Amino acid sequence: MNQNPLVTIILGRPGCGKGTQAKLLREKFGLEYIGSGDLLREMAKENHDFSSSKLKAILDRGDLVPTFLIFKLWLDKIDVMKNKPDFKGAVFDGNPRKILEARLMEDALAWYDLLEFTKVILIDISAEESYARLTQRRMCEKCGQIIPYFGYFKQMTECNKCGGTLVKRADDDPEVVRHRLDVFETEIQLVIDHYEKNGLLIKIDGNRPIEEVHENILRILK
Ligand SMILES: [Zn+2]
Repeated sequence: MNQNPLVTIILGRPGCGKGTQAKLLREKFGLEYIGSGDLLREMAKENHDFSSSKLKAILDRGDLVPTFLIFKLWLDKIDVMKNKPDFKGAVFDGNPRKILEARLMEDALAWYDLLEFTKVILIDISAEESYARLTQRRMCEKCGQIIPYFGYFKQMTECNKCGGTLVKRADDDPEVVRHRLDVFETEIQLVIDHYEKNGLLIKIDGNRPIEEVHENILRILK
């Protein structure tokens, strides 16, 4: 089997479903998953060293994490996964988030001979839709599953995986959400414009049901 690797970068406003889509792609193609949101939350939870408590404050405010820190996490991960004998590719969930990160990531992907196989997908939802989804979504207290706020998820009363209690997420405070949306418009939008200018950006309508968005992404990756 000498198939080309597949690298996808999935971007979109908070709540667009990029995490869900990234995980579907991981399962479908056996990709490595690089979601710095998860990596960072994990790191912040440690709560006993210098970086983790600082990081927790940044995440609680909805601010962007310094590039060097995020990049350190990525590089460690890319280096390990690239050396796996059965490496099939990777999916980046919600990153890069700054122009500087996009440039650094291109350098890294080129170094690991992956840049030519990289596709950038924007799951497009409006700022209003993003706000509604974020201020009203919930999380399972027990297993951490995120219950989005759209379609049939709105009716869910307990976790469909483990039966756990559903609670509001800490970073879904309306003021924090508004700030995260501002960060999107001022920083992440520049990254999207950058990929669009380079002809790398593929736009997908994020208002469709999860399965349909997934199908549309698969069609494009073919
Ligand atoms: Zn659960």
